[in-house]
Amino acid sequence: MHTIGAIAIAGIAALAAALVMNGGDPPVHNSKEKTLTWDTLKPEETSPKRDDKLVLTDAEWRKRLKPDQYKILRSHGTDPAFCGILEDNHLEGEYHCAGCNLPLFRSDDKFNSGTGWPSFLLPVARKNVWFRTDRSYGMTRVEVLCAKCDGHLGHVFPDGPAPSGLRFCINGNALSFVKKVVK
Ligand SMILES: [Zn+2]
Repeated sequence: MHTIGAIAIAGIAALAAALVMNGGDPPVHNSKEKTLTWDTLKPEETSPKRDDKLVLTDAEWRKRLKPDQYKILRSHGTDPAFCGILEDNHLEGEYHCAGCNLPLFRSDDKFNSGTGWPSFLLPVARKNVWFRTDRSYGMTRVEVLCAKCDGHLGHVFPDGPAPSGLRFCINGNALSFVKKVVK
């Protein structure tokens, strides 16, 4: 009895020590992008340089995109809430830019925000998106754009769940979903 009791106490002590060492941190998320939070999210305001930048004329974009995609990506539009484009998609895979196919978000980072737009905790990588201060409609918001084609994706807000505390509110028409292939 004494031995079992001692083991139990040792177990509790080890658990307590582990909790103290952890410092009460939120659970580690499996996203590759772990450092982005509202405090570290500094809008660069201007399009970042990239070797693979996709620059097309307006006529070329109109030819390449469906009208609903053009309205969001190239004309700063917003899908109606609950319009049904990818918001309710629960399949495993990646969400790419509908304009240039750059991977932007992963299904692991998607959550149901109840807002009516696809919502993500984090992008695939910080360098795949860029941020700009958007003062339209009498509000100050942070606009999210694709780093490769500069397409408008949506906005990011500081009211998301842990661990990032971010809510990437993204238009479904700015995204194309690539289902994970099970090998
Ligand atoms: Zn793009």
